[in-house]
Amino acid sequence: MRVPTAVSVAKSAILLVVLTVLLGSTLKFEGRFILQTQSDGPVRMLVIDYTTPGKVRACARFDKARVAAAVADDTADGGALLGKGHLAMTIDQGPDTSRYQGLVALDGGTLEDAAHEYFHRSEQIPTRVRLAVAEELRAGEGGASHWRAGGIMLQFLPKSPERARVADLHPGDAPEGTAPHAVKEDEAWVEGRALVSTVEDLELIDPALSSERLVYRLFHEPGVRVFRASEIRAECSCSRDNVEAMLKSFSQDDRDHMVENDKISVTCEFCSATYVFAPGEVGAKV
Ligand SMILES: [Zn+2]
Repeated sequence: MRVPTAVSVAKSAILLVVLTVLLGSTLKFEGRFILQTQSDGPVRMLVIDYTTPGKVRACARFDKARVAAAVADDTADGGALLGKGHLAMTIDQGPDTSRYQGLVALDGGTLEDAAHEYFHRSEQIPTRVRLAVAEELRAGEGGASHWRAGGIMLQFLPKSPERARVADLHPGDAPEGTAPHAVKEDEAWVEGRALVSTVEDLELIDPALSSERLVYRLFHEPGVRVFRASEIRAECSCSRDNVEAMLKSFSQDDRDHMVENDKISVTCEFCSATYVFAPGEVGAKV
């Protein structure tokens, strides 16, 4: 049975998975990259966690009744399900390093808009992102649904940094009548951005159109260089050892309160794996 509520939530989550993978795969180090939304819409939280090289997991928290109402009103698309709030991007390179976090506002627009805002504010790298997702119903499998999603990210990284200058953000306290800061954009970037904006959803999810072919279709004139593809897989990083360590970090009181029927059960929010401990294993009293 198809549940429209689950379908709508899955769409938002999958788009964010694609964005996370696009951004995470540009990282030049070992570590984790986490995208997390926190907002006032029917889907109040999405967490996508990318671990180099190529492991991704996701989790969504949502209000079923509000999502169902949005589906019934036909307002469950784009950023409407998320509503207003923020999108946080965290880079975690291990326990001995500081975590970097960037924040952008979500205001009901698309995740693509939020990504552009992030790069404009935080990285100052001219960037364009297109994302698409669709549910595919295959014949002969009892109508089981599959998801296909795709994305393309264009960044302008010229050898001469001057060419990638972007206009300053509006300072807010400038005297009235001050002209906004404007920078003439590089022609190569303007052209590339225009090409990426022509990409249709179908081109990003068509199983018969390879990424290489799409990139060639867009950029054959300036020239295309293809790198080896890297595999992305859904895999959770939870483990019995991690959960045990987490439980042991809780206060005695919290641990004691977690005991139910002579055991402590913890279910991973990402993969739903359940870990069961005897109270004594984690120092809890029955
Ligand atoms: Zn897990």
